Amino acid sequence: MVEVIDTLVVTDDERPPSSGPWAAYGASAAQWDDWKWQLRNRIRDLAGLERVFTLTDAEREVVARIGGRLPVGITPYYASLIDPTDPDDPIRKTVIPLASELLVGPGEYVDPLGEDHDSAVPGLVHRYPDRVLFLVTNFCAVYCRYCTRARLVGHTGEFHFSLTQHKAAIDYIAAHPEIRDVLISGGDPLTMADDKLDQLLGALRAIPHVEFVRVGSKVPAVMPQRVTTELVRVLRKHRAWLSLHAMHPRELTPEFRAMADRVADGGVPMGSQTVLLEGVNDELPVMKSLMQGLLTCRIRPYYIYQCDPIHGSAHLRTTVSKGLEIISGLRGHTTGYAVPAYVVDAPGGGGKIQLLPDAIIGRDGDDILLRNFEGGTYRYHDPESTVGMTL
Ligand SMILES: *Cc1c(COP(=O)(O)O)cnc(C)c1O
Repeated sequence: MVEVIDTLVVTDDERPPSSGPWAAYGASAAQWDDWKWQLRNRIRDLAGLERVFTLTDAEREVVARIGGRLPVGITPYYASLIDPTDPDDPIRKTVIPLASELLVGPGEYVDPLGEDHDSAVPGLVHRYPDRVLFLVTNFCAVYCRYCTRARLVGHTGEFHFSLTQHKAAIDYIAAHPEIRDVLISGGDPLTMADDKLDQLLGALRAIPHVEFVRVGSKVPAVMPQRVTTELVRVLRKHRAWLSLHAMHPRELTPEFRAMADRVADGGVPMGSQTVLLEGVNDELPVMKSLMQGLLTCRIRPYYIYQCDPIHGSAHLRTTVSKGLEIISGLRGHTTGYAVPAYVVDAPGGGGKIQLLPDAIIGRDGDDILLRNFEGGTYRYHDPESTVGMTL
């Protein structure tokens, strides 16, 4: 980008530092737009946090005591979406630890979904009949405090899941013709280099029975600079879908929208996944604005997750009735495409279970009684039904 300021032609590197969010981070606009700069300059510790945020005493204490737990990791871009002085900022709660993170509540686990138990080979979870979850890296651009894989990510080195492990997983998939769908996740697969991702997707695509491949990633929201046209070309080449993690309408910045245009124009379908979190997105207007905003970016809302019960997540979890209330407030009130499925991933490896507000009120003779989105009761003549039928 080149901009004309006061008749002088100024390139990005010379742009006055007061002209963008990058100013506070001492970056030029060109550096800010470079995803490798964003990764290299992640906020990783107390000193880094204090450079940008006004921390509360509690936040300061927790970060100092985090030890071997899930580390802090925030890209400068994502940090710039957070109000540095507001401890109740919704995005802040998802990336800066709070005291409650050190507490373990009832019903909380290290591996709530029993993924380690269902691992066919290290890094490959084969739980459902026709599809697998393939964890290809333990590295993320940003560490979410509610991460369901806090036990795996952010610790040893950059790429904990080695190429040897990738090979074992790929061999397993090749040997199981029932696997037609591979979900690539981690860690965050989009932190891998383009050529590594190209090789990995190519290896999966070379397996004749693998007909559907998707990449799960939070990178589009926390480092949209990473989703370059070159990366989009790699995804399209392998006919992969992009399943992106979106938490709050404030994430839908001009950078995010430009990223979504690159992906959609590049021919890669997108869906979104959102974790329902207390004080972040558990108000209907916030969730509605996020879902509608995603649609304007050509992203189809796919799932809203009940927050998994990992250790130290109680302060972020809502009740299930809150989730049902949000679904009731969306269905019928807005575009059907903006209404995702609300799911609980059952602790112990039961898989995703969709929860819906009850629409069938009961039966009256040959009619079933249904509740509509406004709470009105409607009859549907349904004589063939065996619901409540007596012989
Ligand atoms: C979520 C998940 C999948 C994909 O499930 P879909 O409902 O098809 O999106 C596959 N395997 C595991 C272990 C999962 O957790």
